[in-house]
Amino acid sequence: MDNCIFCKIARGEVPSKKVYEDADVFAFHDIHPAAPVHFMLVPKLHVGSLADVEDKHRGLLGNMMLLIPRLAKEQGCTDGFRTVINTGHVGGQEVYHLHVHIIGGGERLPAMIPRPR
Ligand code: 5GP
Ligand code: ZN
Repeated sequence: MDNCIFCKIARGEVPSKKVYEDADVFAFHDIHPAAPVHFMLVPKLHVGSLADVEDKHRGLLGNMMLLIPRLAKEQGCTDGFRTVINTGHVGGQEVYHLHVHIIGGGERLPAMIPRPR
């Protein structure tokens, strides 16, 4: 995708603080970190969002899930981390290239969805 910022980052055309790269995925620090560790893992293939995944992405998605705990630990998340995938308008997605946020490295994060009392 020519005009996708995360495609450009994954291709190295837009600078980022790289965490990891292989043939299929790219990980880089979020420009506005929400915690001491906050990076994103994206497929190099342009997939708009989690709402757009298909059966052909099964292996890619599986590999991403397996990679996340390894990268999280390497980045200093020794006592857990949070993964977030915002999807679509209601999900608050801002960049329409599938990405997993990996967040942690500090205090226990607040409950993401407030529990009813
Ligand atoms: P979303 O709301 O779509 O799940 O998250 C998009 C994230 O991408 C945001 O946390 C935002 O800070 C981050 N972001 C947006 N543009 C850039 C960029 O050009 N470089 C980096 N490193 N992060 C970005
Ligand atoms: Zn893209």
